[in-house]
Amino acid sequence: MRITVVGTGYVGLVTGVCLADTGNQVVCCDIDAGKVARLREGQSPIFEPGLSDLLASGLTSGRLRFTTDLGEGVRHAQVLFIAIGTPPRADGAPDLSAIEGAVREMAPHIQSRLTVVMKSTVPVGTGGRLEALFASSGASSNVRMVSNPEFLKEGTAVDDFQRPDRVVIGANDAEAAELVRELHLPFVRNQKPIFVVKREAAELIKYAANAYLAMRVSYINHVASVCEAAGVDVDEVIRGIGSDHRIGYQFLYPGVGYGGSCFPKDVLAFQHTGEEYGVPSEMIAAVHTVNQRQQRRLLDFIEKRFGRDLKGKRFAVWGCSFKPRTDDIREAPALQVIGGILERGGAVHAYDPKALPHVERLFGAKIGYATSMYDALDQADALAICTEWSEFRSPDFDQFRARMSQPVIFDGRNVYQVETMRRQGFEYFSIGRPPLRPGAPRP
Ligand code: NAD
Repeated sequence: MRITVVGTGYVGLVTGVCLADTGNQVVCCDIDAGKVARLREGQSPIFEPGLSDLLASGLTSGRLRFTTDLGEGVRHAQVLFIAIGTPPRADGAPDLSAIEGAVREMAPHIQSRLTVVMKSTVPVGTGGRLEALFASSGASSNVRMVSNPEFLKEGTAVDDFQRPDRVVIGANDAEAAELVRELHLPFVRNQKPIFVVKREAAELIKYAANAYLAMRVSYINHVASVCEAAGVDVDEVIRGIGSDHRIGYQFLYPGVGYGGSCFPKDVLAFQHTGEEYGVPSEMIAAVHTVNQRQQRRLLDFIEKRFGRDLKGKRFAVWGCSFKPRTDDIREAPALQVIGGILERGGAVHAYDPKALPHVERLFGAKIGYATSMYDALDQADALAICTEWSEFRSPDFDQFRARMSQPVIFDGRNVYQVETMRRQGFEYFSIGRPPLRPGAPRP
């Protein structure tokens, strides 16, 4: 099929390369000329496992090309995907202005019936509104809007796209639904379901799914805070509740809160939608409030241990992306931690396997950047762990003792066992588990 993807970020680029891989002729459009130039050279602007290989093979096969010309994209397309960002506005609603701008620009180029598939996360009713916008912006033929929410996770985006748990297609037109279903058949050969539902249901499914997952994270973080206050180990509580098959263990990991470009904004947007429809949404609001508090949890620990004034103190920060296996730092808890330490006068040396260039764009010379996880520890008074990259899991603890000024760890992802830390003689503060304070007894 002839496919166009508008917006070549995490979702659009993955969609484009995966659809080219299954034999489609794909044109990817983006307004960012620099990004398009790099992509034409085969350079991926983002880190995502497996992406560079698919990009290279798409370009070599001639089935994948990149352009800044939306008109060219429209003329090419039998099916056109929109994967443009929908960041939050001040009132929590998603900002759809970039999508609306693209629709206005594309509309005059539409000469024949076109199926437009919305991959961006947009509020219920957006598909209908955009069909009307296409018509009023000069499309000389009908546009059929289909909602096809994307459930990929950064860090495993290619794999998630190629092996989804399910595909949701929201269409109010059977022919358009069938076109989009056909495109997805190569990805569900493992018998995973394709659900065809009303367009408005598909739009809602995405928010309901993300808000639920975020709610589980905030819930277990709330439980962890109660555990800390009551002197209970959250790991024991998680085993006790997660073993209930109705609950399970997924997304029951306490930590410094969720981040990224999806959960924070989707929770706010879902709250906004509820309120717009007159549905009290205090439950969703609480998910956000708990998360904001949780993102500052390590700073609370640091303040308790070192006081408010951190002048003369040096902190290593490990993990700056919002989660492992991605270089995305949008809404990453590490940014709060770094910012908070700086505000209190402390010095920061950050390490991340992939995200440091983005962190440097934000903090510049205000912090130091280490080329290895151990280098970040040099002369540090403490280490703060914000993302659980796998290379942090079994480190050489002798290096900690040799390099750090004080053996103090604030673990925002519960990477280590408390018992291991006790044996190693560290002061250790983690989420929802008993702290190991100075002079903790060693067995
Ligand atoms: P992104 O910011 O990585 O990419 C968006 C791209 O759109 C950018 O390259 C930008 O230059 C381009 N763009 C903006 N305006 C444009 C225009 N008028 N014409 C052409 N291109 C334009 O965003 P993303 O993370 O890929 O997210 C896209 C959408 O998918 C969002 O609605 C998001 O909520 C949703 N989503 C994201 C993820 C994820 O993990 N990132 C997962 C599922 C769904």
